[in-house]
Amino acid sequence: MTREESVKLMTDKMAKFVAHIAKKLPDDVVAKLEELGAQENAALPKVLYETMTKNQNLAVALDRPSCQDTGVLQFWVKCGTRFPLIDDLEALLKEAVVQATFAAPLRHNSVETFDEYNTKRNVGKGTPTVFWDIVPNSDQCEIYAYMAGGGCTLPGKAMVLMPGAGYEGITDFVLDQMTSYGLNACPPLLVGVGVATSVETAALLSKKALMRPIGSHNENENAAKMEKLLEDGINAIGLGPQGMGGKFSVMGVNIENTARHPSTIGVAVNVGCWSHRRGHVVFDKDLNATVDTHSTVDLNQ
Ligand code: SF4
Repeated sequence: MTREESVKLMTDKMAKFVAHIAKKLPDDVVAKLEELGAQENAALPKVLYETMTKNQNLAVALDRPSCQDTGVLQFWVKCGTRFPLIDDLEALLKEAVVQATFAAPLRHNSVETFDEYNTKRNVGKGTPTVFWDIVPNSDQCEIYAYMAGGGCTLPGKAMVLMPGAGYEGITDFVLDQMTSYGLNACPPLLVGVGVATSVETAALLSKKALMRPIGSHNENENAAKMEKLLEDGINAIGLGPQGMGGKFSVMGVNIENTARHPSTIGVAVNVGCWSHRRGHVVFDKDLNATVDTHSTVDLNQ
């Protein structure tokens, strides 16, 4: 295969993947929504969960996106230094978004800031956003694709707390955001919390936390305990599906952290909605693709 043929192959596979995740939720989200819906007894939340399932089935049957909001495409890339298309990756991901926009089709959702026009291709200056992790001595490339909707992006916030604020300060920060803006984000939510030194490190971690599977835990025992405490606390608000009231507000809380400066606590929150459209694919050096978030798609066919 020539380089051009390889680039085309990976672009086509990523375009197919983006179009697929727009229409079909990942397996863990589907399972969690079923689990939460089965535990509701009141009429309104039950109907809302049933409607979510119906919406999902219709999206597949009619070959249409499951939510009108395409969001902004974000890619988290963990790329080996020996992956053959590392130099082409950013450009081909952009092209894949354009292809998916017309093939799926996806609502045009990218507006050039300050010039105020819609590019009508879902790409623009600096979008899709590509976050890079470079992996030495590896020839594979791991990609999380995420459609960041408007409603679920709204509760996002980052700030730096005084060190004395402690873990209670982190809890206040997260719960304030959830009680103020949680219902804007089409619950039940997946809540990502980043804890680090500064706003940008915490913010990136809080979004990265949303790539983790529902039901996974931070590897640190205390952080995992805090995930559970926050989950119970946010559930106690009783947002329910679509913010209409119910037993649950969240599908889970994922915390990602780094070590931090002793004088600061950088904290951030990011939220995924019930239509949490994220997918994970791994390409080997021959561009064979393995998807582990969606049992519903095979990119090698
Ligand atoms: S919050 Fe999610 S489900 Fe609600 S409109 Fe936005 S993308 Fe769609």
